[in-house]
Amino acid sequence: MSELTVPEINNLARQLVKDLVPYASARSSMSGGAVWLNANENALAPAYQLDGTFNRYPSCQPQAVINAYAAYAGVSPEQVLVSRGADEGIELLIRSFCEPKIDSITICPPTYGMYAISAQSNQTAVNKVLLLNSEQLDLAGIFATEPKLVFICSPNNPTGDLIPRQQIIAVLEHFKGKALVVVDEAYIEFSPEASVVPLLSRYPHLVVLRTLSKAFGLAGLRCGFTLAAPAVICALKKMIAPYPIAEPVAQIAAQALSAQGIVQMQHSVKTINKLRNDFIGAAQQLPGVQRVWPSNANYVLLQVADAADCVAALINADILIRNQSSQLGLSQVVRVSIGSPDEMQRLATAMQQYFSEDKPDPENLEKREHA
Ligand SMILES: *Cc1c(COP(=O)(O)O)cnc(C)c1O
Repeated sequence: MSELTVPEINNLARQLVKDLVPYASARSSMSGGAVWLNANENALAPAYQLDGTFNRYPSCQPQAVINAYAAYAGVSPEQVLVSRGADEGIELLIRSFCEPKIDSITICPPTYGMYAISAQSNQTAVNKVLLLNSEQLDLAGIFATEPKLVFICSPNNPTGDLIPRQQIIAVLEHFKGKALVVVDEAYIEFSPEASVVPLLSRYPHLVVLRTLSKAFGLAGLRCGFTLAAPAVICALKKMIAPYPIAEPVAQIAAQALSAQGIVQMQHSVKTINKLRNDFIGAAQQLPGVQRVWPSNANYVLLQVADAADCVAALINADILIRNQSSQLGLSQVVRVSIGSPDEMQRLATAMQQYFSEDKPDPENLEKREHA
């Protein structure tokens, strides 16, 4: 049999795949840079040890990890699913609850990109109901949609706002018996009092997403959790791969969720929250920064005159931040993840220098964006 040429392989792919645009993650779109402040990772990460052999297949849902997370989150083990990051939880929810080409999801931009990407790869329509003033849910707009899943991100990425609990309750009340309401709490450790986990006992159609990638400093581990009524967890378990959690992942996750691991996480959260508040205070003093969003997480959104120029200038100083201007409802904004004290010092110096320079002529902005 002769080898297939590239065009022939492309012809074999499903139409859906031909139409998909490859996802550009913060990591894939990186070009150099020593200081990484573009993916909301935790720079204050502890080191872990592995032991044992790995010749056996792992447990699909390692009990030690499930039990530890249930205890940490204050739910029962039957309400917990562990997956390859919260991203896999998002994908499993869509694949388990949305009939391709028939059902839809509702999201509230500007928000996390993976809800729409996972929906697209499951041929599921996406209703977009913009946040009001980029911080409050548009309840009337959300109630006008008929989704299977509503995604609410709180603290919201990239704005950093907490969605008011009363609004989340209003959405839960409206969609009783009609849809699942998924609250993405990827950053909840930075504002733990705002968690909606206590509502799980009242609302069996509430789903909460969690991760070890942010406050726990384990983005490289790929380990996340879905918290929901046992019936929801059972549905997801039918769709998950047989061995989604590698044995080394299970070992490290169990260490991170030990009493000592949780204390360590809470300590780094305290440090990061202080660095964030200091950064917000300093950014508000910079003449070129037009708006600083309040933040309840480990990142801060800033509006500047020219986001692409600002990102490029910081790359020249070896600092990577993320341009969020392509988000619906946001324009000329950059998102800065909070790094180590040393990294934040370097950032402050670079930003002071950038904003004290003469800014480019606004008439040239459009030309550069198209270049
Ligand atoms: C980072 C992030 C996730 C994904 O977490 P992983 O566990 O790394 O897949 C989910 N939701 C939001 C809002 C995030 O920012």
